[in-house]
Amino acid sequence: MGAAVPFPECERLSPNTDPAFRPEWLGVVFHHSVLGFEETIARMLQPASQVSYHCLIRADGARCTLVPDGQIAWHAGASHFLGRNRCNDFMLGVAFAGDTYREPLSDAQIASAIEWVRPRWRARGWSLECMTDHRQVAPGRKDDLNPAEWNRLQSALAAALVAAAS
Ligand SMILES: [Zn+2]
Repeated sequence: MGAAVPFPECERLSPNTDPAFRPEWLGVVFHHSVLGFEETIARMLQPASQVSYHCLIRADGARCTLVPDGQIAWHAGASHFLGRNRCNDFMLGVAFAGDTYREPLSDAQIASAIEWVRPRWRARGWSLECMTDHRQVAPGRKDDLNPAEWNRLQSALAAALVAAAS
């Protein structure tokens, strides 16, 4: 196999951010956006929506950066992970466009997520325990991702990143 061609990436910066004074991200919270790719971007460009992700991934794997890594995105709300509250302060937020209860993640979405996570995983020494989803950090309040799709994603991350590191 030849070298993989990276997925295309655009940047549409959301106003819904805080500066991160110590951007020592401890991991990633994965979401689905329910809305489609363009509708989600449009919503996050509106200050009134009060929501944003660092990155949104379309069904074909194309990515949109909405908040740079140096800033806090407003994706998790009231949440708890790694013994701490307010995941937005220490977790990056990545969303898959669509609704994982209606449609499974595409293989391209999973591959694109791995491509996005890989350099950050290496730079920060993350492990699989640093990866989670909205459902798990806000139980009873949020249901993304579909547990079956979370399991698929987690297995793919393990195969691509944990095995590769050893
Ligand atoms: Zn979510």
